[in-house]
Amino acid sequence: MKPVYLDYAATTPADDEVVKAMLPFFGETFANPSSVHTPGQKARTAVEKSRSRVAALLGAAAEEIIFTSGGTESDNLALKGLAAARRDFGDHIVTSAIEHHAVLRPCETLERQGFRVTRVKVDATGMVDPGDVKKALTEKTILISIMHANNEIGTIQPIGEIGRIARERGVVFHTDAVQTFGHLPIDVDRLNIDALSASGHKFYGPKGVGFLYLRKGTRILPQMEGGEQERDRRASTHNVPGIAGLGKAVELAGERMAAEAERLAAMRDRAVERILTGIERTHLNGHPRLRLPNNVNIRFDGVEGEALLFGLDMAGIACSSGSACTSSSVDPSHVLAAIGLQRQEAHSSLRFSLGRGTADGDVDRFLDVLTVTVARLRALAAGRGARG
Ligand SMILES: *Cc1c(COP(=O)(O)O)cnc(C)c1O
Repeated sequence: MKPVYLDYAATTPADDEVVKAMLPFFGETFANPSSVHTPGQKARTAVEKSRSRVAALLGAAAEEIIFTSGGTESDNLALKGLAAARRDFGDHIVTSAIEHHAVLRPCETLERQGFRVTRVKVDATGMVDPGDVKKALTEKTILISIMHANNEIGTIQPIGEIGRIARERGVVFHTDAVQTFGHLPIDVDRLNIDALSASGHKFYGPKGVGFLYLRKGTRILPQMEGGEQERDRRASTHNVPGIAGLGKAVELAGERMAAEAERLAAMRDRAVERILTGIERTHLNGHPRLRLPNNVNIRFDGVEGEALLFGLDMAGIACSSGSACTSSSVDPSHVLAAIGLQRQEAHSSLRFSLGRGTADGDVDRFLDVLTVTVARLRALAAGRGARG
């Protein structure tokens, strides 16, 4: 049977048009875009075309886009680079308990370097209260970093309100928008965003390429030092095929985003409804409404998440246990812990995420296999319990 891929939150396939847009830059137009000769200029033109496309989708200017190797590098550059550049003004950073590790780990490193970090809590739906962000601010706060939408539970944060608070207090505001850029509309001016991370492979572009939007006039210390690429903000020869592919992915996202979000949200709601009503002792993790159109995270009482994942995989269905980054670790996800789940509850959670290639029939087959697998695992657990 045809495999069913329901892990678009972990990564998406590069669109055929994206692959096509990349190919010339491996061969024919291979030159270094920093070179002054004609072949170099051709490569440079492609890089700048992508930069303009990215900027346009954010309501930004082209020179505010810094190409990187992906979401992780963009987050590292933002946290470490913005903190270092503002050290003379203060030493305090505000973030949340449910950020991606690409934000949390740099925060830990900054703490070891003497910065102080406040991690605001979230409620049971995974929502940050902007009032808590405001309360956390001190005279020494130099940076706020709150993600746009969570990769595990899909909750979309009130970043417009947080941006307004940051602007009022003159604090730089960074958001990890890796799960939303190319999926939901984002206007950096309207939302008062100063820095924003995104990644190509999360919206049908290639892996290993992303960008950091950085508002004009915001100082940053480069974390990758070397040549003078990206206006001295990120050295290394441009990944021209990757950047060309990312540009094409942005173009496609701009055309398809609205209709696709609507289609996926309807599919998501139908799947959630069928699970919550059709399979007993199930609970939705994350916010019931303010969530990514393609993300579902469900808890199945009395079921081992890993066993469920394995059972689905045996039937050719690819999902994730909470988060792709933690699925091989025994520690429960920090996100599920932050929304108040007990260890056991966290370990009985399953994330599935829909995308461009998901058809209604795929969801139907998934739901059928899911229902049978959950029943089988529960029966097994009950049998084990009865035998002591
Ligand atoms: C995937 C992801 C990242 C990391 O992006 P890479 O391009 O894989 O390095 C960071 N933040 C969030 C929210 C993500 O979903």
